[in-house]
Amino acid sequence: MTEMAILYDTSLCTNCKGCQVACKVWNNLPSPIGTNENKFSGSLQNPADLNGNTRLIQTFQERDAVRGQKPVDWIFNRRSCQHCTEAPCATVCPAGAITKDEDTGFVHVDDSKCVGCHYCEGVCPFDVPRYRTEGIRDYVNKCTGCPDRVAQGMDPACVSTCQPNALRFGPRDEMLELAQERLEILKGRGYEDAEIYGVNEMGGLHVISVLKYGREATGLPANPSAPATVGMTRVMKPITGVVTGLTVVGLAAMFALGVGYKRDKLVYNPETEDTVSLITGDVVKHGDAQDEKSIKEHILENHPFGIGKGGSDE
Ligand code: SF4
Ligand code: SF4
Ligand code: SF4
Repeated sequence: MTEMAILYDTSLCTNCKGCQVACKVWNNLPSPIGTNENKFSGSLQNPADLNGNTRLIQTFQERDAVRGQKPVDWIFNRRSCQHCTEAPCATVCPAGAITKDEDTGFVHVDDSKCVGCHYCEGVCPFDVPRYRTEGIRDYVNKCTGCPDRVAQGMDPACVSTCQPNALRFGPRDEMLELAQERLEILKGRGYEDAEIYGVNEMGGLHVISVLKYGREATGLPANPSAPATVGMTRVMKPITGVVTGLTVVGLAAMFALGVGYKRDKLVYNPETEDTVSLITGDVVKHGDAQDEKSIKEHILENHPFGIGKGGSDE
């Protein structure tokens, strides 16, 4: 199959949220009454952010108009998985629950394989993965690209519901051409900051966005990137297919050394039985009471290329 993409044109979007609802309906995701976290806050955005039941939200911002022809600019965006070519979530997933479709380029999820480790959460430059809890099980929930529909020749559910054609789905090169046409129209109308997002970011996204007001105003990262330690995980993952313990230490070290994680959470390393802070990388509870090494020392000691042995660990 061809490399595919969703095209989202913010200048055609009316923020009707039909796509948000269609995603819920097709993917059987609940919207429990009474759990709306967004008590009226002066914004039409609802819910406030992605959550375990919500893979897609349409965001809504209002600002004083910069062109002076109307009182306010309404800045819309689609907040969901961007389906990165270089998808760090898939790289770090130790259970094969997140995988990249090498044909279409979309990043799929098999939630039955998720072990709830939250590694993917810490490396996504777009802060996308969320988790659902059922009983004692915690598993990832993010946009899959609707592979069940696409395999049957249908568009993703969100795309198929969009009335003003703000969402399109097709071969990625065709979506890029359409994006370029729309960009030229917007520039011609005086939207100087308008731009296309997703051409090269993260190796190329499979959600291409036409941003009427540019990335900064829309709230997208200017230069999204994965934590540097994801590269180390790429090297270590095949090796640790043989040396299992190293895998676990390596993945834990990704959090210990990495940048880009956002929440104060703890991760448990079943090999050493240590509990590690995602924020500082410190071992907050040693499985072995005699073991006073930091997780960073563990990883450097076991590094496949001998880094850190007998020298500085910086
Ligand atoms: S369905 Fe289309 S117009 Fe409505 S919010 Fe989604 S992208 Fe925008
Ligand atoms: S946007 Fe985040 S969750 Fe989606 S493929 Fe990229 S890294 Fe993974
Ligand atoms: S592609 Fe499917 S899973 Fe992803 S946002 Fe659209 S409807 Fe939801």
